[in-house]
Amino acid sequence: MTMTRREQFLVFGSPAIEDAEIEEVLDSLRSGWLGTGPKVARFEEVFRNYQGAPAVAAVNSCTAALHLSMVAADISTGDEVITTAMTFCATVNAIIHAGGTPVLADVDPLTMNIDPADIERKVTDRTRAILPVHFAGRPCEMDAITAIVQRHGLKLIEDCAHAIETRWHDQPAGTFGDFGCFSFYVTKNVVTGEGGMVIARDPDAVARIKVLALHGLSADAWRRFTDSGHKHYFVTECGFKYNMTDIQAALGIHQLARVETNWLRRQAIWNCYQTAFADLPITLPAEPAPDTRHAHHLYTIRVEEKQVGMSRDKFLHALIDRNIGVGVHYLAIPEHPYYAEHYGWSIDAFPHSRDIGRSTVSLPLSPKLSDRDVADVIAAVRDVVSSGAAESAS
Ligand SMILES: *Cc1c(COP(=O)(O)O)cnc(C)c1O
Repeated sequence: MTMTRREQFLVFGSPAIEDAEIEEVLDSLRSGWLGTGPKVARFEEVFRNYQGAPAVAAVNSCTAALHLSMVAADISTGDEVITTAMTFCATVNAIIHAGGTPVLADVDPLTMNIDPADIERKVTDRTRAILPVHFAGRPCEMDAITAIVQRHGLKLIEDCAHAIETRWHDQPAGTFGDFGCFSFYVTKNVVTGEGGMVIARDPDAVARIKVLALHGLSADAWRRFTDSGHKHYFVTECGFKYNMTDIQAALGIHQLARVETNWLRRQAIWNCYQTAFADLPITLPAEPAPDTRHAHHLYTIRVEEKQVGMSRDKFLHALIDRNIGVGVHYLAIPEHPYYAEHYGWSIDAFPHSRDIGRSTVSLPLSPKLSDRDVADVIAAVRDVVSSGAAESAS
């Protein structure tokens, strides 16, 4: 049997970089403003407007944004923070770095988002905050989550790494609670190489985050970056080195200008996959819920050996053999040795996250994909599925 293989490897999550951001980066290099300066301020302003947020702070990653939000939410030793077992490790690490204790809730198997009923079961008198993740760009059940937050007097910090364009009943993800944290990592919906943003409803909290993001230097220290003469600064807290640079912001300003057109392109690809795979023995993502906006950050299918005739790992290697780059989002948190050892979590206590983590495959969904690339992904997936069927029949 011959197998269909495209000529060049299709890199998973390859960013769509255009001339506008390249020119802007060159402008930064020529100007000599490499550090935190006017372009960071501009990027903050356009992002704040896009989300309709009262206040924002640009930082150098979403991990930094999450960590600073934990600190600014006064999470410290002994405080429990409830998050999802189906997320990237950075979500959980941010809780731990702030001194808090992560408590995991399982997900809804259909939406792959944190299950509010399981959050409720995990609340104790030490619970201080909830940290939901809008998985793949699909909004969490924010009515149920904000009700729990209010009932127990908790903080709410949203991990919006996948969710720049996400809306729940017209309200942007990241604006429901105290802090919303965004990522501009290379594979994310808006790219600055490395980068992140915190949005908050309380401008004082953002002011504190800005201090914490730059060594804990007094707020005036940001003016060191302007040409208005020498300023003394004072260390007012023991902070971190999490500031964004103008080179990163140069990318972000132009990436954000295309956020909606890129979203439309990913939505079209997402819908194309839904149609093309409808007859295959794989589980496709649920359609977006009514009155919500899915950011279409990831397109994840589930490959069950009993349906497809091959293991998930065999399936993803077969796609790579056909020059299609894929991802796994994510192996469930308790499957990682560090967390299992330190928190004694058993994977079987999180059956939905376990099953998703062991069967999920993310297909390419970058706005950079051409129609030809999309057709190649579809052909490769169909080819691999039929080779599995042939194998299990023989
Ligand atoms: C990418 C990601 C992060 C971390 O983002 P960085 O900007 O790389 O630090 C956190 N949470 C989730 C869910 C992510 O996908």
